[in-house]
Amino acid sequence: GFKCGIVGLPNVGKSTLFNALTETAAAQAANYPFCTIEPNVGEVAVPDPRLDKLAAIAKSAQIIPTRLTFVDIAGLVRGASKGEGLGNQFLANIREVDAIAHVVRCFEDSDITHVEGKIAPLADIETIETELMLADLDSLEKRVDNLTKKAKGNDKDAKEQLDLVNRTLVLLRDGKPARLVERKAEEERAFSMLGLLSSKPVLYVCNVEEGSAATGNAFSKAVEEQAAKEGAVAVVISAKIESEIATISREERADFLETLGLEEAGLDRLIRAGYSLLHLITYFTVGPKEARAWTIHRGTKGPGAAGVIHTDFEKGFIRAETIAYEDYVALNGEAGARDAGKLRLEGKEYVVADGDVMHFRFNT
Ligand code: GDP
Repeated sequence: GFKCGIVGLPNVGKSTLFNALTETAAAQAANYPFCTIEPNVGEVAVPDPRLDKLAAIAKSAQIIPTRLTFVDIAGLVRGASKGEGLGNQFLANIREVDAIAHVVRCFEDSDITHVEGKIAPLADIETIETELMLADLDSLEKRVDNLTKKAKGNDKDAKEQLDLVNRTLVLLRDGKPARLVERKAEEERAFSMLGLLSSKPVLYVCNVEEGSAATGNAFSKAVEEQAAKEGAVAVVISAKIESEIATISREERADFLETLGLEEAGLDRLIRAGYSLLHLITYFTVGPKEARAWTIHRGTKGPGAAGVIHTDFEKGFIRAETIAYEDYVALNGEAGARDAGKLRLEGKEYVVADGDVMHFRFNT
């Protein structure tokens, strides 16, 4: 599955947010099977109203949403790249996630100590990014000697890698994250093999006080501006409100949100932002037994999409009966879509579209 790591300085609200995420998942457990894998790892359902609609049309007995894994990565402090705090453990945890949700403190509360002494979200972001970049510098510098030797021995792969590493080093030494390194499509694989922390896509989560949840505040505005400059995404959330929402029923939730001037729970926005940050899309399998959502990378072709369900589906892939979500709904299900000629037979080269309702044909 896809993993999103929650990072941030101490006392910014990471645990509050993570607990709200997993409690919400637990509260939904009646409809949505979920699990907490480890104390700091939780799976949450990706909210998707389309799935409920499909299930209603097909009269599916069960609804199974697709899921995203969140990992609470505590222990980042200034100096982590030099082993301070949980240092290396922390960095190893980040290496394993696909994206980073970076929680920044945008609330004032004199009772809760700020590790750096004052509320300054942009400076906090820099502190964390710096640690990630220092760790990357360290890991790349360790590789240069070995790669240089190999490159001299006419190892073509090593030459290309060395070139990529050197370009990345220039950027890091200039205080810029590795994700900004210019690279060709054919270098993408080698680049991701470097496992650089500052190459991961980042989503800023501005944790504001309860009164600012709907509007944001001056701190969160500054973060949003910064994010826009970097081509990054920022979400305004009140971890406190989210932990309250997590404990009330779905029915009460709408009223509670309305009194706060919120259209939807911040966590739903956060989950969806994480999903789009990872360039993920959803396709559906729908039948009387279950309606289910599946996650794939944008650009995945038929067999790859089938492989998410089972590797046999991918190996023996013949074709996929495909109905666009809009057609499925407008024509009231599979039979209607078939009659209207909207059920397409797609082959191995078909690039799956977000919302496709699919039925795979395969050899066993
Ligand atoms: P972590 O160290 O980043 O995991 O931070 P915690 O989630 O443990 O939060 C640190 C403290 O800040 C706790 O006492 C929380 O109750 C409090 N806190 C978290 N979010 C908010 C908020 O939005 N407003 C206020 N006033 N306090 C908060």
